[in-house]
Amino acid sequence: MLNPHISLRGQTAIVTGASRGIGEATARRLAAAGANVVLLARSSDAIEKIAGEIGDRAMALPCDMSDANAVATTFAQVTDRFGQLDILVNNAGVIDPITRIEDANPAAWGQVVDINIKGVFHGLNAAIPVMKTSGGGTIINISSGAATSALEGWSHYCATKAAVLMLTACVHKEEGENNIRCVGLSPGTVATQMQRQIRSAGINPVSKLDWSTHIPPEWAAEAILWLTSDAARRYDGGDFSIKSDAGRQAVGLPVQHIDA
Ligand code: NAP
Repeated sequence: MLNPHISLRGQTAIVTGASRGIGEATARRLAAAGANVVLLARSSDAIEKIAGEIGDRAMALPCDMSDANAVATTFAQVTDRFGQLDILVNNAGVIDPITRIEDANPAAWGQVVDINIKGVFHGLNAAIPVMKTSGGGTIINISSGAATSALEGWSHYCATKAAVLMLTACVHKEEGENNIRCVGLSPGTVATQMQRQIRSAGINPVSKLDWSTHIPPEWAAEAILWLTSDAARRYDGGDFSIKSDAGRQAVGLPVQHIDA
């Protein structure tokens, strides 16, 4: 383990989108650091299996993050069980359908907004009052280079990730003085189902990347663990990236070796 000194013992974390990929790896890593972890996703079988493998400190709760009422009810179940919420990892997100704006179906485009922006907002809206009552907490929103770069076929994804970056800044503005930290993670490209969907769409240069260039989800999970530590406070209110050597070094991850 890269950051064995970071202990989350006694803390409770919610990880959204924990049925696979970055969310699954994060739930496992935060639990290994001692946290109680609550895994949220729509695929109940997958989160129950992962929670069972993690053990007694893990709990699986099926939840569609685009449904405000479901999110409120689910977060209430978490505080009933654990009495507190210290960490929220707002990770659930989608990229399909990948298509140019002129060809996009408005309802499908809007569904991405419902998950990627409103889902993150629902998590913030449910978590902040609970964190406030216990004196603070840490929120990590999963961002993307797409928050600040336009890519063909990704208008829904770029627009929603840009909105998430702004939500991170807004939480910092409103709640920073209440000891609620909010920071984004821009992980670079990660070897998950989302990258398989990107590859099969065949649109824009990201779909052409060699699979070996994608980092394992465990690296993103390690960065998320590191972001819970005081060492990361200087990134609050913005995105921290592990695409750069400096970011990877801060977390303790291997740096890239790019031939000049
Ligand atoms: P992934 O393997 O496709 O996993 C996405 C997760 O989100 C799944 O657990 C999925 O679970 C969940 N999810 C989707 N819609 C949901 C909803 N309505 N309610 C609850 N959960 C929902 O993708 P990933 O690569 O791990 O992506 C995780 C996050 O990282 C996303 O926010 C993504 O935008 C971001 N990211 C990924 C990359 C990359 O290269 N992979 C790069 C930058 C940022 P269910 O389907 O079971 O609900």
